[in-house]
Amino acid sequence: MLTSNEIVSALENDQFEFYYQPKVSLVTGKVYGAEALIRLVAPDGTVIMPDQFIPVAEQSSLIKSITRHMFLKLVRDMLALKKIGPLTVSFNVSVRDFEDDTLAKLILETLDATKLPSELFQLELTETATLEAGDVVKENMMLLVDAGLNMAMDDFGMGYSSLDTLSKWPFSTIKLDQGLISRMFHSEKSLTIVETSIRMAHELGVYVVAEGVETQAQYQRLLETGCTRIQGYWISRPVPLPQYTS
Ligand code: C2E
Ligand code: CA
Ligand code: CA
Repeated sequence: MLTSNEIVSALENDQFEFYYQPKVSLVTGKVYGAEALIRLVAPDGTVIMPDQFIPVAEQSSLIKSITRHMFLKLVRDMLALKKIGPLTVSFNVSVRDFEDDTLAKLILETLDATKLPSELFQLELTETATLEAGDVVKENMMLLVDAGLNMAMDDFGMGYSSLDTLSKWPFSTIKLDQGLISRMFHSEKSLTIVETSIRMAHELGVYVVAEGVETQAQYQRLLETGCTRIQGYWISRPVPLPQYTS
């Protein structure tokens, strides 16, 4: 695990990058977007994964600096990607990012200045974070939703959200937790949660993305259950931007 000082130094030295993992629609068979996943690329080329620094950053307001820094990087990447056509991109935020309106304002000002369509951007917030969040978080989230950005509830199935929670928060997508997907064929309960979540979400008009899809069997079963969007190693691992565009 990195220390706060090491994270600050990585920020100052611009060592964070996004890797992109494609998301595929089973209806069109095409890539319709990507999730941006942070990596710390050390000067010697070593790639450090987010579990080594995001939990530390989330314990303080450092996470807010990372999110702001990375959003601006995402916009630069999106401007570079524009040449290959519009693509929706999702990125991960923490509940702390919505404790005040700094991030929401930065996003709105930046989209205004660059003329990038807000509909292309989706923010992912975990289900467990949402369940603990209060009104201020919702208000700041609404600033973005009202401007046309989308929200996805990440790691869905870990926090036991009810239909009620989902209807009270402005999420247009849920992302089924990859633990559920990996246990689908080994646990009746997981399979039931997967199938019920897909039905419930669709009844509310909410999209479902299955995450961590690693095998054809999982993909096939999800398709039969009515899940039309998937992400996982079976399609592609997250890759650096130059590789993503080639
Ligand atoms: P997440 O948002 O749930 O992201 C999905 C994680 O699953 C990613 O790990 C991805 O590389 C991995 N994954 C994708 N497909 C598969 C698969 O088929 N099998 C398996 N076993 N894994 C798969 P990664 O990139 O290490 O990110 C871990 C977590 O770190 C993310 O989980 C997210 O919570 C957090 N994170 C990543 N980037 C950011 C960021 O920019 N900001 C914040 N606040 N958190 C981030
Ligand atoms: Ca995510
Ligand atoms: Ca997830």
